[in-house]
Amino acid sequence: MKIGITGGIGSGKSTVTDYIIKRGYQVFDADKIAHEIEEPGGGVLLKLASVFGPEILAEDGSLDRKTMAAVVFSDDKKRKILNDITHREIHAIITEGLSHPETDPVFTDVPLLFESGFNKELDRVWLVTASEETRVKRVVARDGGTPEEVRARIRSQMSDEEKEKMADAVISNDCALEELYEKVDRLLDEANGKINK
Ligand code: ADP
Repeated sequence: MKIGITGGIGSGKSTVTDYIIKRGYQVFDADKIAHEIEEPGGGVLLKLASVFGPEILAEDGSLDRKTMAAVVFSDDKKRKILNDITHREIHAIITEGLSHPETDPVFTDVPLLFESGFNKELDRVWLVTASEETRVKRVVARDGGTPEEVRARIRSQMSDEEKEKMADAVISNDCALEELYEKVDRLLDEANGKINK
């Protein structure tokens, strides 16, 4: 069974994913893969260099993030091309990984799961949610920034109500960590057929 984990910024998606890894399950992490493909020899770099020019590569052959950011800065068309190329590569790597799973269920952690349509490739989606107030507080504590900035980022994303309509399970994380882990344990038991829904 292929299960996607998603959730907006500050919902606790990474916390849930870390716990699932700790429970011994294989997780393909879209953010981690996004970083890996920017390393020297990363599959997508040649493509990016051919589209945007060799100056987007650093001397060691990795992606020169600063130059790349400058190239797409205030150019939405170029930014879209960059996103299309990298997202396609990330999805290809996840799809390949999910087709040779080492555990059952196998998981993937994708921030913009519904927005990208990747949910269609999965058997189930678990959505992590928390109230806006909780998310703002946690993100400010984690990353710094002002509550207004975090609120603006939250509101620029698809709303939890929209996502809940498409999710198979909602893990609400306005609770203590212990309770969060219990909710995940229960879903894992369900997925393993230990208890009926
Ligand atoms: P996301 O990956 O969705 O952006 P994180 O999992 O990184 O969110 O959680 C945001 C912050 O809140 C992190 O610092 C995390 O440790 C903390 N956090 C997450 N869930 C809880 C919880 N139930 N209780 C207390 N702190 C939490």
